[in-house]
Amino acid sequence: METVDLRSDTLTKPTPGMRHAIAEAQVGDDVFGEDPTVNELQERVANMLGKEAGLFVASGTMGNQVAINCHTHRGDEVICEENCHSFNYEGGGPAFLSGVQMHPLPGKLGVITAEQIAAALRPSDHHFPQSRLITLENTHNRAGGKIYPLDEIKKIKKLADEKNLRMHLDGARLWNAHIATGIPLDEYGRYFDSISVCLSKGLGAPVGSVLVGSREFIRDAHRYRKIYGGGMRQAGILAAAGLYALDHHLQRLAIDHERAKKLATGLNALDGVHVDLDASQTNIVIADFDQAQFNVKHVASALAENGVLSIAFSQTKIRFVTHLDLNDQDIEYAIATFNKVIGKKAL
Ligand SMILES: *Cc1c(COP(=O)(O)O)cnc(C)c1O
Repeated sequence: METVDLRSDTLTKPTPGMRHAIAEAQVGDDVFGEDPTVNELQERVANMLGKEAGLFVASGTMGNQVAINCHTHRGDEVICEENCHSFNYEGGGPAFLSGVQMHPLPGKLGVITAEQIAAALRPSDHHFPQSRLITLENTHNRAGGKIYPLDEIKKIKKLADEKNLRMHLDGARLWNAHIATGIPLDEYGRYFDSISVCLSKGLGAPVGSVLVGSREFIRDAHRYRKIYGGGMRQAGILAAAGLYALDHHLQRLAIDHERAKKLATGLNALDGVHVDLDASQTNIVIADFDQAQFNVKHVASALAENGVLSIAFSQTKIRFVTHLDLNDQDIEYAIATFNKVIGKKAL
Protein backbone atom coordinates (compact mmCIF):
# COMPACT_ATOMS: atom_id res chain seq x y z
CA MET A 1 0.00 0.00 0.00
CA GLU A 2 1.08 3.51 -0.75
CA THR A 3 1.96 5.75 2.19
CA VAL A 4 1.42 9.49 1.95
CA ASP A 5 2.80 11.13 5.05
CA LEU A 6 1.07 14.47 5.62
CA ARG A 7 1.85 14.71 9.34
CA SER A 8 4.54 17.37 9.13
CA ASP A 9 7.10 19.10 6.94
CA THR A 10 9.75 18.05 9.48
CA LEU A 11 9.61 14.44 8.23
CA THR A 12 11.58 15.03 5.04
CA LYS A 13 14.84 13.16 4.58
CA PRO A 14 17.96 14.71 3.05
CA THR A 15 18.00 14.30 -0.74
CA PRO A 16 21.00 12.74 -2.55
CA GLY A 17 22.16 16.24 -3.55
CA MET A 18 21.95 17.43 0.03
CA ARG A 19 23.83 14.36 1.27
CA HIS A 20 26.54 15.13 -1.26
CA ALA A 21 26.80 18.72 0.02
CA ILE A 22 27.06 17.35 3.56
CA ALA A 23 29.83 14.94 2.55
CA GLU A 24 31.81 17.69 0.82
CA ALA A 25 31.41 20.35 3.56
CA GLN A 26 34.48 22.14 4.87
CA VAL A 27 34.43 22.13 8.64
CA GLY A 28 36.22 23.54 11.69
CA ASP A 29 35.46 23.98 15.39
CA ASP A 30 32.45 26.28 15.50
CA VAL A 31 32.80 26.92 19.24
CA PHE A 32 36.10 28.57 18.21
CA GLY A 33 34.17 30.36 15.42
CA GLU A 34 36.28 28.42 12.91
CA ASP A 35 33.75 26.46 10.90
CA PRO A 36 33.70 28.15 7.47
CA THR A 37 30.43 26.52 6.42
CA VAL A 38 28.60 27.56 9.60
CA ASN A 39 29.99 31.08 9.19
CA GLU A 40 28.81 31.18 5.58
CA LEU A 41 25.31 30.02 6.53
CA GLN A 42 25.03 32.55 9.36
CA GLU A 43 26.15 35.42 7.13
CA ARG A 44 23.94 34.35 4.28
CA VAL A 45 20.75 34.07 6.35
CA ALA A 46 21.50 37.36 8.16
CA ASN A 47 21.95 39.05 4.76
CA MET A 48 18.75 37.57 3.38
CA LEU A 49 16.81 38.95 6.37
CA GLY A 50 18.60 42.33 6.33
CA LYS A 51 20.31 41.78 9.68
CA GLU A 52 23.92 42.29 10.80
CA ALA A 53 24.60 38.82 12.15
CA GLY A 54 23.29 35.29 12.52
CA LEU A 55 23.72 32.30 14.81
CA PHE A 56 23.23 28.65 13.84
CA VAL A 57 21.19 26.92 16.56
CA ALA A 58 20.10 23.32 17.08
CA SER A 59 16.35 23.92 16.73
CA GLY A 60 13.61 26.48 16.34
CA THR A 61 12.89 26.13 20.03
CA MET A 62 16.48 27.01 20.85
CA GLY A 63 16.31 30.04 18.54
CA ASN A 64 13.16 31.36 20.20
CA GLN A 65 14.33 30.66 23.74
CA VAL A 66 17.76 32.21 23.22
CA ALA A 67 16.06 35.28 21.72
CA ILE A 68 13.59 35.62 24.59
CA ASN A 69 16.45 35.43 27.10
CA CYS A 70 18.47 38.07 25.23
CA HIS A 71 15.58 40.53 25.10
CA THR A 72 14.26 40.23 28.66
CA HIS A 73 15.03 40.36 32.37
CA ARG A 74 13.53 38.06 35.02
CA GLY A 75 9.96 39.03 35.87
CA ASP A 76 9.36 40.74 32.53
CA GLU A 77 6.30 40.07 30.47
CA VAL A 78 6.31 38.80 26.89
CA ILE A 79 3.23 39.50 24.79
CA CYS A 80 2.26 36.72 22.40
CA GLU A 81 -0.71 35.12 20.68
CA GLU A 82 -2.35 32.35 22.72
CA ASN A 83 -1.83 29.56 20.17
CA CYS A 84 1.77 30.39 19.35
CA HIS A 85 4.57 27.82 19.43
CA SER A 86 6.72 29.51 22.11
CA PHE A 87 3.81 29.59 24.56
CA ASN A 88 2.45 26.09 23.89
CA TYR A 89 5.12 23.78 22.51
CA GLU A 90 8.45 24.77 24.01
CA GLY A 91 8.11 23.06 27.38
CA GLY A 92 7.44 26.23 29.36
CA GLY A 93 10.83 27.52 28.20
CA PRO A 94 10.17 31.24 28.77
CA ALA A 95 9.44 30.62 32.48
CA PHE A 96 12.02 27.86 32.88
CA LEU A 97 14.94 29.49 31.11
CA SER A 98 14.34 33.23 31.20
CA GLY A 99 12.12 33.67 34.28
CA VAL A 100 9.58 35.68 32.30
CA GLN A 101 5.84 35.36 32.10
CA MET A 102 4.01 35.10 28.83
CA HIS A 103 0.98 37.29 28.32
CA PRO A 104 -1.07 35.43 25.71
CA LEU A 105 -3.71 37.38 23.76
CA PRO A 106 -6.55 35.73 21.82
CA GLY A 107 -5.80 35.99 18.12
CA LYS A 108 -7.81 35.62 14.95
CA LEU A 109 -6.12 32.80 13.06
CA GLY A 110 -2.93 33.52 14.99
CA VAL A 111 -2.99 37.25 14.39
CA ILE A 112 -3.10 39.76 17.26
CA THR A 113 -3.49 43.44 16.50
CA ALA A 114 -1.55 46.52 17.58
CA GLU A 115 -4.74 47.68 19.28
CA GLN A 116 -4.98 44.52 21.38
CA ILE A 117 -1.31 44.76 22.32
CA ALA A 118 -1.64 48.43 23.29
CA ALA A 119 -4.51 47.51 25.63
CA ALA A 120 -2.44 44.72 27.21
CA LEU A 121 0.62 46.84 28.04
CA ARG A 122 1.33 47.29 31.74
CA PRO A 123 1.58 50.68 33.41
CA SER A 124 5.10 51.46 34.57
CA ASP A 125 4.52 50.99 38.26
CA HIS A 126 6.29 48.57 40.59
CA HIS A 127 3.11 46.52 41.10
CA PHE A 128 3.22 45.24 37.55
CA PRO A 129 5.47 43.04 35.49
CA GLN A 130 7.33 45.05 32.88
CA SER A 131 6.07 44.59 29.32
CA ARG A 132 9.31 44.07 27.41
CA LEU A 133 8.92 41.96 24.32
CA ILE A 134 6.35 41.17 21.63
CA THR A 135 6.70 37.85 19.80
CA LEU A 136 4.80 37.09 16.61
CA GLU A 137 4.65 33.89 14.53
CA ASN A 138 4.71 33.92 10.72
CA THR A 139 3.45 31.71 9.23
CA HIS A 140 1.30 30.59 12.13
CA ASN A 141 1.47 26.85 12.70
CA ARG A 142 -1.73 26.18 14.68
CA ALA A 143 -3.73 28.60 12.56
CA GLY A 144 -2.94 26.52 9.48
CA GLY A 145 0.03 28.31 7.96
CA LYS A 146 -1.66 31.70 8.16
CA ILE A 147 0.45 34.60 6.87
CA TYR A 148 0.73 37.55 9.25
CA PRO A 149 -0.54 40.65 7.38
CA LEU A 150 2.35 43.06 6.82
CA ASP A 151 0.17 46.09 7.57
CA GLU A 152 -0.53 44.78 11.05
CA ILE A 153 3.17 44.03 11.62
CA LYS A 154 3.94 47.67 10.71
CA LYS A 155 1.37 48.96 13.19
CA ILE A 156 2.75 46.71 15.92
CA LYS A 157 6.31 47.88 15.17
CA LYS A 158 5.19 51.51 15.47
CA LEU A 159 3.66 50.77 18.87
CA ALA A 160 6.79 48.87 19.95
CA ASP A 161 8.95 51.87 19.02
CA GLU A 162 6.70 54.27 20.93
CA LYS A 163 6.65 52.06 24.03
CA ASN A 164 10.26 50.94 23.87
CA LEU A 165 9.39 47.25 23.41
CA ARG A 166 11.49 44.67 21.56
CA MET A 167 10.08 42.57 18.72
CA HIS A 168 10.93 38.92 18.02
CA LEU A 169 9.60 36.91 15.08
CA ASP A 170 9.21 33.14 15.29
CA GLY A 171 9.77 32.70 11.58
CA ALA A 172 10.10 28.91 11.57
CA ARG A 173 8.09 29.07 8.33
CA LEU A 174 8.81 32.66 7.29
CA TRP A 175 10.17 31.15 4.04
CA ASN A 176 6.63 30.04 3.21
CA ALA A 177 5.22 33.52 3.90
CA HIS A 178 7.91 35.06 1.67
CA ILE A 179 7.27 32.66 -1.23
CA ALA A 180 3.46 32.95 -0.96
CA THR A 181 3.37 36.77 -0.78
CA GLY A 182 6.49 37.81 -2.69
CA ILE A 183 7.30 40.14 0.22
CA PRO A 184 11.12 40.28 0.40
CA LEU A 185 12.66 38.60 3.45
CA ASP A 186 14.57 41.78 4.36
CA GLU A 187 11.29 43.69 4.38
CA TYR A 188 10.17 41.42 7.23
CA GLY A 189 13.58 41.99 8.80
CA ARG A 190 12.93 45.73 9.13
CA TYR A 191 10.22 45.26 11.74
CA PHE A 192 11.89 42.84 14.15
CA ASP A 193 14.89 43.02 16.47
CA SER A 194 15.39 39.29 16.02
CA ILE A 195 14.08 36.54 13.77
CA SER A 196 14.42 32.77 14.07
CA VAL A 197 14.03 30.71 10.86
CA CYS A 198 14.00 26.90 10.56
CA LEU A 199 16.01 24.96 8.01
CA SER A 200 14.38 21.66 8.96
CA LYS A 201 10.76 22.38 8.02
CA GLY A 202 9.82 23.12 4.41
CA LEU A 203 13.45 23.59 3.38
CA GLY A 204 14.14 19.93 4.09
CA ALA A 205 17.46 20.14 5.98
CA PRO A 206 17.91 17.52 8.72
CA VAL A 207 18.76 19.86 11.62
CA GLY A 208 18.90 23.48 12.60
CA SER A 209 17.61 27.00 12.68
CA VAL A 210 19.29 30.38 12.30
CA LEU A 211 18.67 33.27 14.68
CA VAL A 212 19.46 36.73 13.29
CA GLY A 213 19.67 40.23 14.73
CA SER A 214 22.14 43.03 15.44
CA ARG A 215 25.80 42.22 16.09
CA GLU A 216 25.29 43.06 19.77
CA PHE A 217 22.22 40.83 20.03
CA ILE A 218 24.04 37.90 18.44
CA ARG A 219 26.96 38.38 20.85
CA ASP A 220 24.53 37.84 23.75
CA ALA A 221 22.78 35.02 21.90
CA HIS A 222 26.11 33.20 21.57
CA ARG A 223 26.44 33.06 25.34
CA TYR A 224 22.91 31.69 25.90
CA ARG A 225 23.36 29.13 23.13
CA LYS A 226 26.46 27.88 24.97
CA ILE A 227 24.64 27.79 28.32
CA TYR A 228 21.80 25.78 26.76
CA GLY A 229 24.32 23.24 25.54
CA GLY A 230 23.99 24.35 21.93
CA GLY A 231 27.65 25.03 21.17
CA MET A 232 28.41 22.53 18.41
CA ARG A 233 31.84 21.66 16.99
CA GLN A 234 32.20 20.59 13.33
CA ALA A 235 28.63 21.70 12.66
CA GLY A 236 29.50 22.58 9.06
CA ILE A 237 28.12 19.22 7.97
CA LEU A 238 24.72 20.45 9.18
CA ALA A 239 25.16 24.01 7.91
CA ALA A 240 26.04 22.61 4.46
CA ALA A 241 22.59 21.03 4.34
CA GLY A 242 21.08 24.41 5.20
CA LEU A 243 23.03 26.20 2.45
CA TYR A 244 22.03 23.50 -0.04
CA ALA A 245 18.40 23.89 1.03
CA LEU A 246 18.49 27.66 0.46
CA ASP A 247 19.88 27.08 -3.04
CA HIS A 248 17.55 24.27 -4.06
CA HIS A 249 14.47 24.13 -1.85
CA LEU A 250 13.37 27.69 -1.20
CA GLN A 251 11.72 28.60 -4.50
CA ARG A 252 10.04 25.19 -4.77
CA LEU A 253 7.92 25.94 -1.67
CA ALA A 254 5.43 27.35 -4.20
CA ILE A 255 4.81 23.73 -5.27
CA ASP A 256 3.99 22.75 -1.66
CA HIS A 257 1.54 25.65 -1.50
CA GLU A 258 -0.23 24.58 -4.71
CA ARG A 259 -0.50 21.02 -3.44
CA ALA A 260 -1.87 22.19 -0.10
CA LYS A 261 -4.48 24.20 -1.98
CA LYS A 262 -5.49 21.04 -3.86
CA LEU A 263 -5.85 19.14 -0.58
CA ALA A 264 -7.81 22.01 0.97
CA THR A 265 -10.18 22.19 -1.98
CA GLY A 266 -10.62 18.40 -1.98
CA LEU A 267 -11.42 18.35 1.73
CA ASN A 268 -13.72 21.35 1.55
CA ALA A 269 -15.81 19.59 -1.08
CA LEU A 270 -16.76 16.85 1.41
CA ASP A 271 -19.96 16.99 3.37
CA GLY A 272 -19.39 17.98 7.03
CA VAL A 273 -15.78 19.11 6.46
CA HIS A 274 -14.71 22.74 6.41
CA VAL A 275 -11.36 24.26 5.54
CA ASP A 276 -10.81 27.98 6.02
CA LEU A 277 -9.28 28.73 2.64
CA ASP A 278 -8.25 32.18 3.91
CA ALA A 279 -6.00 30.54 6.48
CA SER A 280 -4.65 27.86 4.12
CA GLN A 281 -2.32 30.12 2.18
CA THR A 282 0.85 28.08 2.49
CA ASN A 283 1.69 24.40 3.14
CA ILE A 284 -0.59 23.61 6.08
CA VAL A 285 -4.23 22.59 5.82
CA ILE A 286 -6.46 22.39 8.87
CA ALA A 287 -9.73 20.62 8.24
CA ASP A 288 -12.56 21.21 10.66
CA PHE A 289 -14.96 18.26 11.02
CA ASP A 290 -18.58 18.51 12.00
CA GLN A 291 -18.63 16.88 15.42
CA ALA A 292 -22.14 15.52 14.95
CA GLN A 293 -20.95 13.48 11.96
CA PHE A 294 -17.32 12.67 12.72
CA ASN A 295 -14.97 11.62 15.47
CA VAL A 296 -11.62 13.01 14.25
CA LYS A 297 -9.55 10.34 15.99
CA HIS A 298 -11.49 7.69 14.04
CA VAL A 299 -11.13 9.69 10.82
CA ALA A 300 -7.36 10.00 11.30
CA SER A 301 -7.02 6.25 11.98
CA ALA A 302 -9.21 5.33 9.02
CA LEU A 303 -7.06 7.56 6.79
CA ALA A 304 -3.91 5.96 8.24
CA GLU A 305 -5.26 2.46 7.54
CA ASN A 306 -5.47 3.58 3.93
CA GLY A 307 -1.93 4.96 3.98
CA VAL A 308 -2.66 8.67 4.47
CA LEU A 309 -1.03 9.95 7.64
CA SER A 310 -2.22 13.12 9.39
CA ILE A 311 -2.40 14.56 12.89
CA ALA A 312 -5.62 15.02 14.87
CA PHE A 313 -5.07 18.54 16.15
CA SER A 314 -8.06 19.00 18.46
CA GLN A 315 -11.52 17.53 19.09
CA THR A 316 -12.65 18.63 15.63
CA LYS A 317 -9.54 19.38 13.60
CA ILE A 318 -7.06 17.37 11.58
CA ARG A 319 -3.84 18.87 10.21
CA PHE A 320 -2.28 17.98 6.86
CA VAL A 321 1.10 19.38 5.78
CA THR A 322 2.71 19.29 2.34
CA HIS A 323 6.48 19.04 1.89
CA LEU A 324 9.47 18.13 -0.22
CA ASP A 325 9.05 14.34 -0.04
CA LEU A 326 5.65 14.30 -1.78
CA ASN A 327 4.79 14.22 -5.48
CA ASP A 328 1.65 14.96 -7.50
CA GLN A 329 0.49 11.31 -7.41
CA ASP A 330 0.68 11.39 -3.61
CA ILE A 331 -1.68 14.34 -3.56
CA GLU A 332 -4.09 12.63 -5.94
CA TYR A 333 -3.96 9.47 -3.82
CA ALA A 334 -4.66 11.50 -0.65
CA ILE A 335 -7.68 13.21 -2.22
CA ALA A 336 -9.02 9.88 -3.51
CA THR A 337 -8.57 8.49 0.01
CA PHE A 338 -10.42 11.45 1.55
CA ASN A 339 -13.31 10.72 -0.78
CA LYS A 340 -13.25 7.02 0.01
CA VAL A 341 -12.87 7.33 3.80
CA ILE A 342 -14.51 10.62 4.72
CA GLY A 343 -17.07 10.54 1.96
CA LYS A 344 -18.46 7.58 3.88
CA LYS A 345 -19.91 9.23 6.94
CA ALA A 346 -20.64 8.03 10.47
CA LEU A 347 -17.08 7.22 11.49
C1 LIG B 1 8.53 23.88 14.31
C2 LIG B 1 8.35 25.21 14.90
C3 LIG B 1 9.30 25.74 15.78
C4 LIG B 1 10.55 25.01 16.20
O1 LIG B 1 10.43 23.71 16.51
P1 LIG B 1 11.69 22.77 16.78
O2 LIG B 1 11.08 21.43 16.78
O3 LIG B 1 12.27 23.19 18.06
O4 LIG B 1 12.67 22.99 15.66
C5 LIG B 1 9.09 27.00 16.26
N1 LIG B 1 8.01 27.71 15.90
C6 LIG B 1 7.10 27.25 15.04
C7 LIG B 1 5.97 28.11 14.64
C8 LIG B 1 7.23 25.97 14.53
O5 LIG B 1 6.31 25.50 13.69
